Amino acid sequence: QSSILNICVNQVIIDLATCVKELVENSLDAGSTKIEVYLKEYGKEGVEVVDNGSGISSQNLEQIAQKGATSKIRQFQDLESLDTFGFRGEALNAISVLSQLTITTRTESDEMAYRYQFNQDNSVKSKTLVPRERGTTISLTDLFGNIPVRKQEFNKNIISQYNKLVNMITEYAIISVNCQICLINQSSKKGREMILNSGSPMKNMLQKTAQVFSKKISEMLVELKFNFGEECSVIEGYVLNKQTSGSVQESKSIQKNMSYLFVNTRPVNPFKKMNSIFSDIYKKYNTSARYIYILHLKVKKDAIDFNVSPDKRDIFIKYENEFYTALRDSLTQLFEKLNS
Ligand code: ADP
Ligand code: MG
Repeated sequence: QSSILNICVNQVIIDLATCVKELVENSLDAGSTKIEVYLKEYGKEGVEVVDNGSGISSQNLEQIAQKGATSKIRQFQDLESLDTFGFRGEALNAISVLSQLTITTRTESDEMAYRYQFNQDNSVKSKTLVPRERGTTISLTDLFGNIPVRKQEFNKNIISQYNKLVNMITEYAIISVNCQICLINQSSKKGREMILNSGSPMKNMLQKTAQVFSKKISEMLVELKFNFGEECSVIEGYVLNKQTSGSVQESKSIQKNMSYLFVNTRPVNPFKKMNSIFSDIYKKYNTSARYIYILHLKVKKDAIDFNVSPDKRDIFIKYENEFYTALRDSLTQLFEKLNS
């Protein structure tokens, strides 16, 4: 491994959550309608992501852990119009360098599934045939085993790493309305625990919210939609009702602010001023002054920059100020209307 390669590899997979994020995105890119994420001891002992997507064809499998191995760009100009999460072929390479990786996969045309174990130099350690339905299982153990300092950090902060992972899975569970996403942890203390289950494919994010959080929370939400900039809009949005049917008890049941922002189906960090706009308006209209928002924005491709940070969570949009103005106006309008 050259050190330059290591720098790149280290940037893609910085912790447990980014590792699982890459795997879940791959499963979504493969058209899965069910994705199960299994953790052993909160990820410390191992991670497995099982999907029912397209599978990986056996011709590609041998090289799949190599850097730059991707099936997602066919021509360079595709970069302009890419709708998949991945496109650089970096994630599996990084994961195979940083852990013990096993891939089991079966496509529609395979009779059996192929199981490949990889060495940390990305070469193939073993191949076997095993029974499996169509789809892919990615298993890894000893994450960061070859970077002792990061491994130590990982073991020390396992609970905060795990919490970050749960938040991340929650986001994908809400936005992926056509997919059932489950998170299961197996620990010696608590045995097997279902942490999250977004239920079978649904019509919209509101129904997913009922599954992922609770029916009670989803019933406290009202719809919010608006346009901003040129041809950009909130295509699906829900916010906490101003007074949660006037019951102080109910609004107290919301322990903390909940903020979920998606741009063109990707979970992203809220824009700079969003949270303060929400807290201003909720202070004025809501008894609890807590807010919830789940907003899915559709932004024109040329008005957006996803590649600001390696995890693509911080993004720039051209119409940020127009968005703030429209958000403030439409929230105020909504609450005024609910008041009258
Ligand atoms: P990228 O997603 O940028 O293409 P990755 O390293 O994440 O790169 O994955 C490499 C390739 O492996 C993908 O392009 C895809 O062809 C294949 N792949 C990975 N995970 C899956 C999966 N769960 N189902 C089907 N194909 C997969
Ligand atoms: Mg990928």
